[in-house]
Amino acid sequence: MIVSAKGAARWQAGHPWIYRTDVYDEPGDAPGIVPVTERRGRHLGQALYSPKSEIRLRLLTRGREPIDAAWWAGRIAASAARRGGIAATAFRAVHAEGDGLPSLVVDRYGPYAVAQLLSAGLERVREDVLAGITAALAPEAILLRNDSAVRRHEGLPLEVVAARGTVPETVVVEEAGVRYAAAPHSGQKTGAFLDQRENRLLVAAHAGTGRALDLFTYHGSFALHLARRAAAVVAVDSSGEALARGRENAALNDLANITWREANAFDLLRELERREETFDTIVLDPPAFAKSKQSVPRALAGYKEINLRAMRLLAAGGILFTCSCSYHVNRAVFLDMVGGAARDAGRRLQLVAVTGAAGDHPELINVPETGYLKGCLLRAVD
Ligand code: SAH
Repeated sequence: MIVSAKGAARWQAGHPWIYRTDVYDEPGDAPGIVPVTERRGRHLGQALYSPKSEIRLRLLTRGREPIDAAWWAGRIAASAARRGGIAATAFRAVHAEGDGLPSLVVDRYGPYAVAQLLSAGLERVREDVLAGITAALAPEAILLRNDSAVRRHEGLPLEVVAARGTVPETVVVEEAGVRYAAAPHSGQKTGAFLDQRENRLLVAAHAGTGRALDLFTYHGSFALHLARRAAAVVAVDSSGEALARGRENAALNDLANITWREANAFDLLRELERREETFDTIVLDPPAFAKSKQSVPRALAGYKEINLRAMRLLAAGGILFTCSCSYHVNRAVFLDMVGGAARDAGRRLQLVAVTGAAGDHPELINVPETGYLKGCLLRAVD
């Protein structure tokens, strides 16, 4: 495969992707691993090739070595070795581009592995990748959660496949002393929001002992950590099914101080404000409001509304953790929105910490596409 000077320059700058318009001489329809050269024939590396995607090439290596099961095992083992000292039995062992393994995600849930193959090139070498995961991580079973919508851009089917052995429907994992049941076959992402793990610990470390509010709680992961400190926690989600899992998780931890409320967070915030309720700790972890570039202004209005209302409910000295997982809303825009909400709420809020996804979801500083989750921890001065 031959690429333009512009395409070659992207790799040179550390970005692993080359787009359709920078690729010449496509070999036909077969996805897979291809050698890549510049126009004069100089070898640039080997890449995953996706004939149907706008992202045609994803760099694997600049070398010429054979990319076989042993190669994948080596890269996956190196990625896993970077995860030292994680106080949890569920974590991400391979974070795709962020770990130099574009389009490959591998999560650990106790003894099991749940993987996602997110490009056509990678799907073509599925057996080598599975052999690599087996050799590097020795999981008891491997489940492929290949039902992520991004596979549509690659012309790939959405499917959940038992690749090796059987991963149970639920796996109880532990996170800094809190136990919760992950749902690898049917839960969001690969079964849980592992990317918020460090943020949950951060919030728990700062949380007050009074009342806490966890909005957009899903299976209750922030609420469980808060409940160990706070006198009472209100955990809110619009999905009754998610709340049912949350209740089961609370029981797993013998926590009886969480009230589960099925509600639209926007409506509930208004209601709580009317009733002049206050909370010492509030968590706002909404789904991505901005699904496209065009929807950013509307999304920002939504983010600002919930942040503003949450700030009004915050007790003096209270802690607010707020975040956004919209890739299209970058960190600067997010912090600007939070600042605007604080001005409108008329609250003096200290910026205690600016955070992102947990360290096992590494972001590449020169590849903005690898960042999506940003958050900040605020404390009300008065
Ligand atoms: N905090 C969770 C992840 C939250 S995911 C964790 O750390 O694991 C976002 C959640 O928001 C989903 O569970 C979804 O059901 C819920 N949700 C989406 N829109 C909502 C709304 N308008 N009001 C309340 N919950 C909503």
